[in-house]
Amino acid sequence: MNTETLNICKNYKKCGGCQYQGLAYPKQLEKKQKNVEALLKKFGKVNPIIGMKEPFYYRNKVHAVFDRDRRGNIISGTYEANSHRVVPIEECLIEDKKCQEIIRTIRGMLKSFKIKTYDEDTGYGLLRHVLVRRGAKSGEIMVVLVLGSPIFPSKNNFVKALRKEHPEITTILLNVNSKKTSMVLGEKESVIYGKGFIRDELCGCTFRISAKSFYQVNPVQTEVLYNKAIEFAALTGKERVIDAYCGIGTIGMIAAKHAKEVIGVELNKDAVRDAKLNAKENNVKNIVFRQGDAGEFMTAMAAAGEKADVVLMDPPRAGSDEAFLSAVVKLAPEKVVYVSCNPETLARDLKYLTRKGYEVRKIQPVDMFGFTVHVETVVLIQRKDT
Ligand code: SAH
Repeated sequence: MNTETLNICKNYKKCGGCQYQGLAYPKQLEKKQKNVEALLKKFGKVNPIIGMKEPFYYRNKVHAVFDRDRRGNIISGTYEANSHRVVPIEECLIEDKKCQEIIRTIRGMLKSFKIKTYDEDTGYGLLRHVLVRRGAKSGEIMVVLVLGSPIFPSKNNFVKALRKEHPEITTILLNVNSKKTSMVLGEKESVIYGKGFIRDELCGCTFRISAKSFYQVNPVQTEVLYNKAIEFAALTGKERVIDAYCGIGTIGMIAAKHAKEVIGVELNKDAVRDAKLNAKENNVKNIVFRQGDAGEFMTAMAAAGEKADVVLMDPPRAGSDEAFLSAVVKLAPEKVVYVSCNPETLARDLKYLTRKGYEVRKIQPVDMFGFTVHVETVVLIQRKDT
């Protein structure tokens, strides 16, 4: 595809999701490179960003919020930036096409099934959000219908009709979210069709993914990113590795092939359950997973006098915290490989580690989020004495 095309989405101003709409893809990469350099250059040379070959329709997870417009027509789309007004979206340039198609089908079915969209102000109505996830390699598709209340009267017929239109859907879940919140998913969920999760493949491993578990949204670039992280760790087979903020265990499982043992730690219970089953299904025996706060876990490890050779860490946008980083310093791994989705918090955390005996050896930005301002970065941090 010609990445020079200025593919201006007609919703982009109201939607706000793609801050770089209207910029040719190479220009977007230039901006991201400059942004990372401005924040991280002081720690070392920033390698040229690895861009996407195909920057369109890459998101394997698509979310739509449902509402009615002023004339009472059912709409689906996204929240306008910093508000709860819904911007109707017919077609998005970065979301998986099949997932978008399923959302359009669901929208078209609501009237004949007499399903009302949920009204956030009054609490009346039923359908609040739809979330669709597709395994890029497996082709498996999960649909999550997020409802404002647990009773879905025409559930069985709805599932039948939806599957008739989209036989490629492999599982459908109901999730109940009756709270006044900007979180999409509520606590309660039930499976109404299929096995309740999808599987996908990354770097030669198979992963099961539950509705509430984190999974990287750009499957092609995720392999690029993980391969870089593994390359930076330069494992020899003798190491004890910690995979902190491990999600469903992806990075740790890939690392386990090249290490003596891996310990994964993750806060989200569903993700930890997925991670444990993933290890079993892939027959990876040298990995264990612990559920809990990564900082607390590392602090306890350090207090027990344990050691680690490599710490792989991939925290959320807020970055890590002092408890975690001070425990890293006590555990004294030779290498820390930091995978970050926010260069600002990354810079803050690097500042901490570089004051405590570590130095930055490699910095590699990877573009996982074309058309948006976001950028992923992998950093190799090493103990100065090694
Ligand atoms: N490495 C994984 C997940 C990265 S996303 C992957 O590449 O798929 C960040 C993860 O950190 C999420 O799964 C989130 O649930 C988890 N998380 C957030 N805060 C945490 C904390 N305090 N302790 C441990 N895990 C945490």
